[in-house]
Amino acid sequence: MTTLEVSHLDVQFGARKVISDLSFSLNSGEIASLLGPSGCGKTTLLRAIAGLLTPSGGTIRLGSQLIGLSSLSLAPHKRSTGYVPQQGALFPHLNVARNIAFGIDRKKKSASEIKSLTFEMLDLIGMPGYEEAMPSELSGGQQTRVALARALVIKPKMVLLDEPFSALDAHLRNELRADVIALLRSQGATAILVTHDREEALVASDKVILMRDGAIAQFGTPEDVYENPTSPEIAVSTGDAMILPAQQNTQGITSYPLKNRETDFKVAHNGFVVIRPEEVVVGSDLAGGMSAQLLAVDYYGHDAMLTFSLAHSTELIKVRVVGHSGYAVGDTLSIKHEGPVRFFKE
Ligand code: ADP
Ligand code: MG
Repeated sequence: MTTLEVSHLDVQFGARKVISDLSFSLNSGEIASLLGPSGCGKTTLLRAIAGLLTPSGGTIRLGSQLIGLSSLSLAPHKRSTGYVPQQGALFPHLNVARNIAFGIDRKKKSASEIKSLTFEMLDLIGMPGYEEAMPSELSGGQQTRVALARALVIKPKMVLLDEPFSALDAHLRNELRADVIALLRSQGATAILVTHDREEALVASDKVILMRDGAIAQFGTPEDVYENPTSPEIAVSTGDAMILPAQQNTQGITSYPLKNRETDFKVAHNGFVVIRPEEVVVGSDLAGGMSAQLLAVDYYGHDAMLTFSLAHSTELIKVRVVGHSGYAVGDTLSIKHEGPVRFFKE
């Protein structure tokens, strides 16, 4: 089984530490999304795993192969890692077939083997007949497919994709992403997909690596990072969330704008409660609900986001409803929080 194990990784540029004491591991065949703000070190982490830079500390193991220790670093072409860099980067002067074949070791393969591998990849990416085309004649989605074929042709154990879909429009992006994930699964490759699209991170992967300032902020399954964020900031980075002021008493009772409880208890902590808009329900008169006035309706077709004001709080409450709700701005309705109470100390 080829697992990826990154342990205590440090990467430094001059005096500046860009990755510090970063550890995680992936099982064979797992696809992970790497999500984090611009500049947090996503590309640097990928380049370290691909062997394109030498870490200042820690180890990276792919199966039994040690690839991250500076003194033992293997040359990139000796590693079984396929890397698709952030800027797609096809060679503009080479046709599709020669772009795909570029990573194949010519000392080890005959011309006819190279040709058959190339045609196999063209089939796999759904572009048979394109072997003679030049990159400039391809759409953005086709260029991404070819870049992927170039990475996969060496039958890598590990595939690293750096924001491969960021240049594509939403519709094409969803379609190509589904194809790419299916392709990676069919090859049984372990893969890391860098994205800063939070929905993409959740839908595309077995594991999500949330990165901040060169370190891992949270690591887990998509369900886990979405349902059980370890901070309000992480909650927001994986989906819409409200961060409401809250107080918690010594009996663990939490008081926040959607639960109108007595607040004359001894307060143990002030903090915040994180609530997702789909965890609030709305009706004309809900038992245990709270009166709220509808301020705005953002209609997206498949769902809509309703914004409410409350009588006793200045916080605005967002509620996600399926499809067309039939409610109108100005309506006085009843809302109720039915999800978990995620409390974070101030
Ligand atoms: P991300 O991909 O998450 O946007 P990067 O990994 O590209 O972030 O960069 C992380 C930080 O490291 C940035 O502040 C960037 O300026 C810095 N950095 C990246 N590569 C180099 C380099 N070769 N030399 C010096 N600093 C670098
Ligand atoms: Mg980057």
